[in-house]
Amino acid sequence: MLLLERRLEIQQFAKTVHAALGLQEFPYPIHKAIDLLHGTIEWSQQPIRDTCIVNTGESFTIHLSKIAVDSYKRWYLGHTLGHVFLHMGYLTDLEFWSLIKEYKDTAFNKEHTQVHEAEAYEFSRHLLLPAKELRRVCKKNRDDAEYNMTEVSKYFGVPVSAVKGAARPLGLY
Ligand SMILES: [Zn+2]
Repeated sequence: MLLLERRLEIQQFAKTVHAALGLQEFPYPIHKAIDLLHGTIEWSQQPIRDTCIVNTGESFTIHLSKIAVDSYKRWYLGHTLGHVFLHMGYLTDLEFWSLIKEYKDTAFNKEHTQVHEAEAYEFSRHLLLPAKELRRVCKKNRDDAEYNMTEVSKYFGVPVSAVKGAARPLGLY
């Protein structure tokens, strides 16, 4: 669980990134966002636990196993981008960025903590499912007392579990 202050900070940061990149459509074009940030993605056959983000000096390369489902791909790339900014300092902390060579996004990495995971997901949530849009789309997809989360997840192009995780703090689920 993250402290409220940290959550709000990440929320604000994700909003800033969203506005700076100017990509307004949904599902959020995360591949385009990574492109605009000069990042690259290398797809590998490795298991997902071997995801690694490499500092290439000027930019970064995400080494990611091929994920079959688009919604998971989008969601996980958002998460990875969270690590790039929050835990590698890309464009946010030049000194830290110059020191860190790579970030292994795996449960077997000792430096990799639950806090990092929660922070990266918090970032992904606010980049891919901004609260204002999420409220609007949930309202539109409400049958009686229930929200149709499957429809909402199709709109945002992320897994249903991600929509539920974003909707809960807003009191929508
Ligand atoms: Zn992670």
